Amino acid sequence: MKKNKSNMYVRFWGVRGSIPTPGKDFVKYGGNTSCVELRCGQTILIFDAGTGIRMLGKALSKEFSGKPVTVHLFISHTHWDHIQGFPFFDLAYNKHASIYFYGGHSVSTLEKLILGQMEREYFPVTLFELSSNIHFVELSHNPFTINDITIWYTHLFHPGLSLGFRVEYNNHVFVYASDNEVLNDPELGDYNLKNIGNLIQDADILVADCQYTPQEYATRIGWGHSSIESVAGVASRFNVKHLITFHHDPNHTDRDITRAIKKARSLSFPIRITAAKEGDILYI
Ligand SMILES: [Zn+2]
Ligand SMILES: [Zn+2]
Repeated sequence: MKKNKSNMYVRFWGVRGSIPTPGKDFVKYGGNTSCVELRCGQTILIFDAGTGIRMLGKALSKEFSGKPVTVHLFISHTHWDHIQGFPFFDLAYNKHASIYFYGGHSVSTLEKLILGQMEREYFPVTLFELSSNIHFVELSHNPFTINDITIWYTHLFHPGLSLGFRVEYNNHVFVYASDNEVLNDPELGDYNLKNIGNLIQDADILVADCQYTPQEYATRIGWGHSSIESVAGVASRFNVKHLITFHHDPNHTDRDITRAIKKARSLSFPIRITAAKEGDILYI
């Protein structure tokens, strides 16, 4: 693997919001739901277990075949598109694998919610039958560390619980903030802005929910997702270097996404803006 200054890279395995979108109009950006891999030196972090985690599992099995492997899996929240790939994650069936789940407490613990999705009525193999070593970490304080990585989390604005994560490693900052609405509401908006500002300040890379065009957002206020323009505005204000639009709307074809990116760039925000694309690797 190519070396870079921070020894940190991100790889996209699933970039779609809400539901997978197979089909010829979704080939360029990809149709799998949320899953992002982040390597910080030897440490493997994964953000969300949408259907993209299936191919990540295959890649990790190949890389570590027969050798011990540990992954740290951050679940932003348990809406289907963020957990539905886990039952198809190869490492879950690998006795040499240790999987640490991290998440918050919403109506229930993350452990109970993942157990629930793997009850036999929904899937033939239960969580107890998996061969890997699975641990659940309920997040309760900020920041926390994994090896030499510092991680902050915060609650985003989204129906139910959704968490955003800030990862600091080797003086570089990566932020994952999927499923979040940047609010225009003057009262809530202030709190929302401060909260998001603390999370994303000076980030080298911000992977953020940019599901809607501004026209779509106008009819979907309160649904818990953002328009590219509003996120680009906030990202510029807090000195983000590179915004990667994520959680693409299932109705947006490749052409729609390309058009939306061009439109956002034409507004001359002082940051780099690109769209998350399945298979892309970026060195931080
Ligand atoms: Zn989602
Ligand atoms: Zn959601």
